[in-house]
Amino acid sequence: RVNRGDFLNALDEVTPAFGVSKEELEQVVQNGIIHFAPVVDELLRSGELFVEQVRTSTRTPLVSLLLHGPPGSGKTALAATVAQASQYPFMKLVSPEGMVGFSESQKVAAINKVFADSYKSPLSVIVVDNLERLLDFTPIGPRFSNAVLQALMVLLSRRPPKGRRLLVISTSSLRPVLTDLGLSESFDAELWVPPIASLRSLEYVLKEVELFHDASQHRNAMHMLQQAGFDGTDEQDSRLNIGIKKLLSVIEMARQEPETVAERLTGSLMELGL
Ligand code: ATP
Ligand code: MG
Repeated sequence: RVNRGDFLNALDEVTPAFGVSKEELEQVVQNGIIHFAPVVDELLRSGELFVEQVRTSTRTPLVSLLLHGPPGSGKTALAATVAQASQYPFMKLVSPEGMVGFSESQKVAAINKVFADSYKSPLSVIVVDNLERLLDFTPIGPRFSNAVLQALMVLLSRRPPKGRRLLVISTSSLRPVLTDLGLSESFDAELWVPPIASLRSLEYVLKEVELFHDASQHRNAMHMLQQAGFDGTDEQDSRLNIGIKKLLSVIEMARQEPETVAERLTGSLMELGL
C-alpha cells in the first residue's frame, strides 16, 4: 500500500533531479554581493539581460556565457546571483566541489544528467562552475580529462529540444587554457570579472563590512594604506590587486586584532602585492 510517507519520499526524490537547487546557489554567495565598483552592477546587469534574452527570444534557445577573471574575483558568486535572480523553473549548479571523489565517467554522467534534466523544463539555467577544475586541468604536462572536455563541448553548444530554452553560465580563472582546449567557441559572450585594484573600491568594502570602530580608526587606516602605495591615481599604477574573496578573508583575519587592525590589513595587502 502507498502511504503518506511514500508520497513524501517521492517528493524528496524528485526535487534534486528535476527542479531548483536554490540552497546550492545561495551557499556560494555566502558573503553577499558588495557593490564596490560600477563594474559589479554592470556585470549583474549584463547577466540579467542574458536571462531576459533566453526568456523572451525564440531565436536563441541556448545562450552560453563565460565569466572569467583572476582567482577569487567573485565569478562563482556573480554567476550564482544571476542564476538565482532568473527565477527560472530549473536552476542548477554544476561544480567540482559537488563531484569530489568522482571518477571521470561519473563526472561525465553527472554533468550529462543535469543537462538532460534541464531539457525537461521550458526554461533552465545551469551554472557550470570552475571549468578548469571540472576538467581536472593541471598545467604540468599539461593534463586534463578528455572525456569531460568532450562532454562539455557537446553540451555547451547543443540546442535544447524544441520549445526548451537554456542559459549556461560558466566560470573560469584560466581563460587562455580554454582557447588551447578548443572550448572558446562554445561561448556566445564573455564577461571579465576584475580584481579590486583601487583604493576607493577597497575603502568601499572596508566600510561595508564595518571593519573599523570609528572615523578616526578609518582615517588612520586609509592613511596607512596610502603610505604603503595603494593609492595609484589610476588603477594601472595601484599596487592593489586582490580578489574580493581573498580581501574578505584578509579583513576577517585583521578583525581578530582590534588594536592593530589597520597595521594588520596593510601588512597583509603588502605581502600579497609583492
Ligand atoms: P575562485 O577563483 O576561487 O573560484 P571566485 O572568483 O569564484 O573564486 P567566489 O567564490 O565567487 O570567487 O567568492 C567571492 C566571495 O565574495 C563570495 O563569498 C561572495 O559572497 C563575496 N562577494 C562580495 N562582494 C562580491 C562581489 N561584488 N562580487 C562577487 N562576490 C562578492
Ligand atoms: Mg569560483
